[in-house]
Amino acid sequence: MTTTRSSSNRPQGPRSRSTVYGYPRQGPGRQLKKLTEAYWAGRLDADAFLAQTRELRRARWIELRDAGIDEIPSNDFSYYDHVLDTAVMLGALPRRHAPALADAGQSPAARLDRYFALARGNDDAAPLEMTKWFTTNYHYLVPELRPDMEFRLDPTKPLSEFREARELGLTTRPVILGPVSFLLLSKREPGVPGDFQPLSLLGKIICPYLELIRRLFDAGAEWVQFDEPCLVADQPAQVLDAVATAYATLCAEEFRPRLLVATYFDRLGDALPVLADSPVDGIAMDITGPARANIDDLAAIGGIPTKRLVAGVVDGRNVWRTDLAAALSTLGTLLGLAGQVDVSASCSLLHVPLSIEFERQLDPQIAGWLAFARQKLEEIVILTRGLNDGWEAVAGDLQVSAARRATRLASPIVQVDAVRRRAAEAAGLPRTRRSPYAERRIVQRRQLGLPALPTTTIGSFPQTPALRAARAKLRAGELDAAGYEALIEAEIAAVIAEQEAAGLDVLVHGEPERNDMVQYFAEQLDGFLTTAEGWVQSYGTRYVRPPIVVGDVARRGPMTVRWATYAAGRTQKPVKGMLTGPVTMLAWSFVRDDLPRAEVARQVALALRDEVLDLEAAGLRVIQIDEPALRESLPLRNADRAEYLSWAVDAFRLVTSGVRDETQIHTHMCYAEFGDILQALIDMDADVISLEAARSDMAIVTDLARAGYPNDIGPGVWDVHSPRIPTVQEIVDRIHLALKECPADRLWINPDCGLKTRGYAEVRPALANMVAAARAVRAEL
Ligand code: GLN
Ligand code: ZN
Repeated sequence: MTTTRSSSNRPQGPRSRSTVYGYPRQGPGRQLKKLTEAYWAGRLDADAFLAQTRELRRARWIELRDAGIDEIPSNDFSYYDHVLDTAVMLGALPRRHAPALADAGQSPAARLDRYFALARGNDDAAPLEMTKWFTTNYHYLVPELRPDMEFRLDPTKPLSEFREARELGLTTRPVILGPVSFLLLSKREPGVPGDFQPLSLLGKIICPYLELIRRLFDAGAEWVQFDEPCLVADQPAQVLDAVATAYATLCAEEFRPRLLVATYFDRLGDALPVLADSPVDGIAMDITGPARANIDDLAAIGGIPTKRLVAGVVDGRNVWRTDLAAALSTLGTLLGLAGQVDVSASCSLLHVPLSIEFERQLDPQIAGWLAFARQKLEEIVILTRGLNDGWEAVAGDLQVSAARRATRLASPIVQVDAVRRRAAEAAGLPRTRRSPYAERRIVQRRQLGLPALPTTTIGSFPQTPALRAARAKLRAGELDAAGYEALIEAEIAAVIAEQEAAGLDVLVHGEPERNDMVQYFAEQLDGFLTTAEGWVQSYGTRYVRPPIVVGDVARRGPMTVRWATYAAGRTQKPVKGMLTGPVTMLAWSFVRDDLPRAEVARQVALALRDEVLDLEAAGLRVIQIDEPALRESLPLRNADRAEYLSWAVDAFRLVTSGVRDETQIHTHMCYAEFGDILQALIDMDADVISLEAARSDMAIVTDLARAGYPNDIGPGVWDVHSPRIPTVQEIVDRIHLALKECPADRLWINPDCGLKTRGYAEVRPALANMVAAARAVRAEL
């Protein structure tokens, strides 16, 4: 097709360019994972690893080039994590890794080992902590800083990637985590006083950044991208001042590439005028979902007429095809608001799977509704062409886009009248239990016959290699359903026996049948799709395949009753039924974009409500609904939080409010920081909440007490993220700490989280110690 500029009402300006901020690192078939694990296992030496990963980077660049992307990024690739890469580039490493650094010298193998030691730890030094990257399911490594930190630039990675791409004739735009976000995402190195603020290092950290842009300029870079995603959360004036100072200093450098500051995941808010007034050459912003507010905010400040705007109009973290006509019209609006408008995805494509082409088992019509990373490149290129050459230049593409959207919205799997009707009626269902907690607890205690300080676990028991092998055989057709189920039953029986031997009070079935706590339910619910190859990086070499909510959600039949009743039949003790809550089901899936999240959550909640009632009818007297993702899904902007918490709590109450007083509802959440959601926890009104607490010295108990949390709590007394077996005394001490803030008749004794990643060698003695500690403290009461 020839590209003639035609009748579009495009102002005469520079042509728009297509770009992205990052592309999946994995390669087809998760090559990067395989290479890295082979290197770790010693099956691949450093030279081979480096050569093959270099090939992988070349292939990615060629893919972007051949897709028609005009401005291609570099340095978005990583062997493990881009925040760790930045820390290494800046020499910002904790002291405990310093000896390894000194030894590492310049040999590639030594450098690699030092890098992986920071990510995974080694015999001498613990790794950096890992935490969630904003509201995604990607985890980054948290840099550790100290007041006297001396930064030293090591530009090897960005420079060599830039040069590698140059060999292909590509002048890439290096992507670097910006100085302000780097500092805000960091924490204090252990031992550093609590009043030290990483942001106080801004003056120092600018030096290596300045040197970096000079070096990139010398190497031929025309643009460099500094990511400042922290600017989409509410930030105090001090942070906004830091942004102004940092970018004024960086832009004052005479010999530098042009600077693009990239933001994503939400709107810029107060940071927009700061960036607009700064001398940076371009701003990249998210133009999807709530971040569409950026458009009005831009208009309100009179646009950025002297700057380049990179408009993230293609959703970079969801999997639906873009409504191309709508996006093109948005881009048309933006043309009037900036000196130049370029087209991109809203964030790095790291957060979506590689390509829908690999989903061969998928109904082609449904596949046509989905856009993974590769398909998003196509969309970006089409939109850029439309912007440059007018709508008619892309008329065919717009037609296909509209037709796909229309079939999707009209499809009977997307819109199910019965589900809609039921969800509408659910608006009238009561959301409160029959009696208040104070009354429920009396009947529950009586009928469960529990001692003071009852002991329990969070749900999963070790997933043994034999279980994983059995699942693989089942998939491969080497094991039939009956054979598989017999294995699961045997496992449940063994897990029950373990718990009886340990002397626990409320038992679990151990979750051996679950590949994953979300996928297991997604596979059994209408409205969810699962993929074969839809891998997304979670951290390092760990990838997950998030299910996709494609249509209205309904339960086909009981999902957990068979295993729960089997377990309950093997013991006299109460067994706790185990479900994944609606917020977590959505947080760890790709959610449809044609219905508000709150609505989807309500549909999932109704399906789970039925499951809860079935479990109750089957005789289960304790039921746990896990919501580990409730905290992490909290919107980045304060203004959006109340609404989120309101539907999240409502969904939980919809799941749980139908049961009798006698039935005890538990919930579980991981992570120790709950400051922002304490009231929501109270509003959920679970009879018992278990939380992670061991690593933070039971601080959560104090937080809950101060907030007036009224119901039972189970602060974790054993840190299951570490292979260490806690001693009886340590656990006794933790229980004593908790008892300072929580009366004994409201306290439960349990680990921090599920045991699926631990082995029996640790689980057995640790549970024995936990029960012994609970008994010892009980005897004191
Ligand atoms: N019940 C789940 C388990 O024990 C909870 C997991 C979680 O909190 N992430 O594995
Ligand atoms: Zn947990």
